Amino acid sequence: SFFSEVKTHSIDVFELFMRFHRDTHENKLNLAIGVAYRDDSGLPWTLPVVRTAEQTVAEDENLDNEYLPVLGLEEFTTAATRWLLGSDSIAVVEKRAFGVQSISGANALRLGAEFLSQVLGKTVFYYSNPTWRSHELLFKNGGMAEARQYRYWSEKTKNLDFDGLLEDLESAPRGSVVILHACAQNPTGCDPTEDQWRRIAGVMREKGLFPFFDTALQGFASGDLVRDAFAVRLFERMGFELFCAQSFSKNLGLYNERVGNLVVVLNDPKLVDPVKSQFTLIVRGMYSNPPSHGARIASYILNNTNLYDKWQDNVLTMFTRMKEMRGSLRGALEQLGAPGDWSLITRQVGMACDTGLTESQCEVLIERHHIYVLKSGRFNICAVTSANVDLIAKAIYDVFTS
Ligand code: PLP
Repeated sequence: SFFSEVKTHSIDVFELFMRFHRDTHENKLNLAIGVAYRDDSGLPWTLPVVRTAEQTVAEDENLDNEYLPVLGLEEFTTAATRWLLGSDSIAVVEKRAFGVQSISGANALRLGAEFLSQVLGKTVFYYSNPTWRSHELLFKNGGMAEARQYRYWSEKTKNLDFDGLLEDLESAPRGSVVILHACAQNPTGCDPTEDQWRRIAGVMREKGLFPFFDTALQGFASGDLVRDAFAVRLFERMGFELFCAQSFSKNLGLYNERVGNLVVVLNDPKLVDPVKSQFTLIVRGMYSNPPSHGARIASYILNNTNLYDKWQDNVLTMFTRMKEMRGSLRGALEQLGAPGDWSLITRQVGMACDTGLTESQCEVLIERHHIYVLKSGRFNICAVTSANVDLIAKAIYDVFTS
């Protein structure tokens, strides 16, 4: 066959998923559950504000299915950019910030990487250790050949390794691209404080490093959509040029609609047209132009104060449930007397939840209790419900004490 040289590439998340499907135990539980939010019944949740916006889109007879412009639906990209940076942002006011619609956050990262490598000849990029598993792949496939890590998490202190992080950034070559999680770092759920962000920005300015933010969980760190934009806004207010990959998968629950935007901030409005023209070329060579349905929904919400307020309420609902489950799980583990400091669970933000289980303990959790977690010992807090929290805590307790 033409394909006879092709080897199977194994991906642990998919293997775990297949194993879960094959398990016939009636109380099996998948805590690695992809990346999606679940309600307290363990079911996917369509945000009520999204339902409202979808109805409006469905009933709008002026809409058609013509191609969108290559760089996307302008009312969406403009609103998303303004929402991220704030309408008082100088870059917005001076018209030197714009957005490129993308196939959600993953593709916003890829578009940015393509631009940096193809147009600017950049090769070196830094990502946090640990980070979301796709960063390296997206940037390498985007033409940036030299992947390097900066320290982020200390297993010893179960906290940010701030000194390590600064040291690694300080020794990065000028012009390197640094991927920064804007909030709710995936997978540690641990963000720098506002003061630490200022120091990171200071080092990056001094060393001439380019910030490439990734904001996939805006609203999930503090429950407040705007507060979670702190880091990006800080860099923008300090006069940085930057990219920021925005995803609306999680905060709008629009996972399969692939709604994203690459925010571009330049320091000179005269550069907007040339930069846009290069992005146009990149998009044409990749998928020609983006899809419209999800972007229309997001655009309705971002451009309507009433709907926007409802969105903030819906985000708070998700945030509050995740926070409550963190409290319940920690409480249950402490009540059982499970060994260890469980305060990490309530200190973490976003979706990731750290149990401290080793790889072999995770295996026991799967084999004996039919509870599926990734081998890092981290799982998705959204999969925890009032109905299963005690069961999960007892299983973790058993694994730690037997
Ligand atoms: N960035 C981070 C850190 C993520 O965790 C994810 C998804 O899990 C993404 C980006 C991109 O998600 P999507 O492509 O669905 O927007």
